[in-house]
This record gives sequence, C-alpha cells and structure tokens, in this order.
Amino acid sequence: MGRTVVVLGGGISGLAASYHLSRAPCPPKVVLVESSERLGGWIRSVRGPNGAIFELGPRGIRPAGALGARTLLLVSELGLDSEVLPVRGDHPAAQNRFLYVGGALHALPTGLRGLLRPSPPFSKPLFWAGLRELTKPRGKEPDETVHSFAQRRLGPEVASLAMDSLCRGVFAGNSRELSIRSCFPSLFQAEQTHRSILLGLLLGAGRTPQPDSALIRQALAERWSQWSLRGGLEMLPQALETHLTSRGVSVLRGQPVCGLSLQAEGRWKVMLGGSWLQTLEASGCVLSQELFQQRAQEAAATQLGLKEMPSHCLVHLHKNCIPQYTLGHWQKLESARQFLTAHRLPLTLAGASYEGVAVNDCIESGRQAAVSVLGTEPNS
Ligand SMILES: Cc1cc2nc3c(=O)[nH]c(=O)nc-3n(C[C@H](O)[C@H](O)[C@H](O)COP(=O)(O)OP(=O)(O)OC[C@H]3O[C@@H](n4cnc5c(N)ncnc54)[C@H](O)[C@@H]3O)c2cc1C
Repeated sequence: MGRTVVVLGGGISGLAASYHLSRAPCPPKVVLVESSERLGGWIRSVRGPNGAIFELGPRGIRPAGALGARTLLLVSELGLDSEVLPVRGDHPAAQNRFLYVGGALHALPTGLRGLLRPSPPFSKPLFWAGLRELTKPRGKEPDETVHSFAQRRLGPEVASLAMDSLCRGVFAGNSRELSIRSCFPSLFQAEQTHRSILLGLLLGAGRTPQPDSALIRQALAERWSQWSLRGGLEMLPQALETHLTSRGVSVLRGQPVCGLSLQAEGRWKVMLGGSWLQTLEASGCVLSQELFQQRAQEAAATQLGLKEMPSHCLVHLHKNCIPQYTLGHWQKLESARQFLTAHRLPLTLAGASYEGVAVNDCIESGRQAAVSVLGTEPNS
C-alpha cells in the first residue's frame, strides 16, 4: 500500500506543503486536515458593501529574491498571472516610505544623494551610519536582539527609529525583544560571513539560483516592490484548494486536531504571542471593537490628516497572529528538531512559527517540508 502523508492546518504553509507533495513524480496519498470551515489561515480577503476588497491578513507579497520568485512561479502554475496586481518600481507607493516620529511624517531618503543629505528625523545624513557600519567589528554572540544589533552596528538613532519601525511593520513586535538571528537572518549572516552587513549584502547578493518564468521576468523588469491579486490575496489559497482537489488530495475541514500520538506518545503545542496587546490586557484595558476603531481613526487623523469619518469600518481582533521570534528562538528550533530526530518521529515542521512569517517564507517552508517527506525535489 502507498504512503499517506497528513498535513495539519490549511493555512498557506499547509497548502503549499500539500501542493508540492501532490506534484511529486510518485505522489503519496495526501490528506489535509483543517480545524475551521475555510482554508487560507490568516490570508483572508473580504468585500466591503461597495465592492472594495479589505485584507484581514496579508495585503502584499514581496517578489524579491529566490523565495519571492518561487511564489510568483506558483502563481503562474495556478493560472493566476492575469489576476496579479503589482506595485511597480516607478509608482509613488514604491518610491515613498515614511517614518512617523515626534508627531510628524518624515520621508525616508532614497538614492545615494538622499543618503548624503540631512534627513530628519535622523540628526546626521544616513551615510554616516553606513560608514560606521563598515568599520565595526563582527559581533561575538550567537544571538542578539534586533535593537542591540542595530545599535552596535548602525548607531542608536537607526536602531530606535528605523529598525524599531521595521519590527513593528513586519512582526508587530518589539525590536528590544525580537531576535536578529531569527527575524532578519540575512543581516545576521551578512555580519557573520563578511563582518559587515553592508559588505555582506553587496557581496553576497544574487548568489541564490532563481526560477525563471514570464511573470518573474516582468516583476524584475518593472521593479515590482510588492504584488497582490485582483480579487484579494485569498485567491491564492482558493486556487491552491482547487488544484489540490483536482490532484486527489483529501481536504478535511472542520476537523481540529487535538493531539498527535505515535504509539500513544507525543503531543505538540506551539504558543504564539503578539507584543503590546498582552501589555494592554495585563494593565486591565478592555480590548473592545470600539476601542480599536477609535484608536485607528485617531491614528489616521493625527498621522495622515484623514479627519473624515470612514464610510465603512471592519474591525477584527487577531490575537497571537504573528509569531514573535524572541532572543534565542534558534535554540528552541534546534532542540525541537533534535527531539524529532532523537525520537524518530514522522513529523516535519512547516509554517510561520519557525523560519519566517512572510507568505513567501511560509510557502517555502511548505515546499521544504514536502522535500523532506519525499526525500527529493517535488517539482513535476
Ligand atoms: C494581520 C496580518 C498581516 C500580515 N501581513 C503580511 C503581508 O503583508 N505580507 C506577508 O508576506 N505576510 C504577512 N503576514 C504574515 C502571513 O500572512 C502569515 O505568517 C501566514 O499567512 C501564516 O501562514 P501559516 O499557514 O503558517 O499559518 P496560519 O495562517 O495560521 O494557518 C494555520 C492553519 O492551521 C489551522 N489549524 C490550527 N490549529 C489546528 C488544529 N489543531 N487542527 C487543524 N487545523 C489547525 C488554522 O485554522 C489555520 O487555517 C501577515 C499576517 C497577519 C496576521
């Protein structure tokens, strides 16, 4: 009898793992088990009353790098090319980035000239932070918080203003708690291999072989900064589901997995937690829909000058939605892997909790899980 592989969770990681398993030359029987009635996990798009699409989860996917290219390849394989909505490199949304500091929005400098000019809220041109970075010795710790790493290499201003904002934007997390090694592995590796992150990023760039397709070439030629899909990003899990069903994958919905046992042994539990929500809750604050709506409107009014009442508001509280890779995350991962190996458990880990929270990372983790289960590259 052929082998059966059970994939737990029908978020993008589980869907990607099932996709790659089902495309193996001799595919195993694949059963995807999802606790809720819908697939896609955090990827969820809803239509407002006037037809506008609201993304409750991710709203854009980056095309850059090998992982970005792999996701675009997946999009083409699923026949979604004509649905892609890119933000091209010459679009103002791609060119202008702002930091909200001290009650005002500040445009981030672009190009070499921008780096040489004073650019508030930074007290000196960012060129100096770059120069400082080139002269700093390599760190000796096996891990460090993002803040401490950035402060050591780029100075306190870049750490507090730029890196802190980046952590809030990507992880909704605190740069003083998040791990540089797990949250920004390319920066950590650049320092390890080239002593400097600037040198490492310059010299190490472009080495990973990338897949090729018409869509990938278009993204490169038009310098896309990110992309979405015409009907919302949820089209991606929906297309994956259609594809999986056509390949004979069994999709079980509404089936929460309460534990895993192998000869009556073994149970896994992954705890996820956002940063400031817990602090607010601990201080006794009632996290009501009205509070979130009010805070969102206040922020839009003070930071962007949007004083008019919105025509439509959707408030969703996502608790524990983005895993926080805090200091030492890599050690937890290593012990989990050692545990799996030592106990010879037929279990492979994939998903946002391990090696990257972006959609691209999750798709890649699903692909890697399929490679590990199949023992070979699954591409048909
Ligand atoms: C608000 C928000 C905005 C984001 N913005 C972006 C962005 O712009 N760009 C980007 O690249 N990334 C973004 N991300 C990150 C990215 O969307 C997520 O990391 C990714 O979708 C997680 O996918 P996953 O499959 O690993 O996990 P999940 O989406 O959490 O999927 C896990 C699935 O497993 C199911 N499940 C859980 N427990 C069980 C059980 N016991 N039995 C059976 N099934 C179970 C769940 O129901 C769920 O369907 C954002 C995330 C959030 C929350």
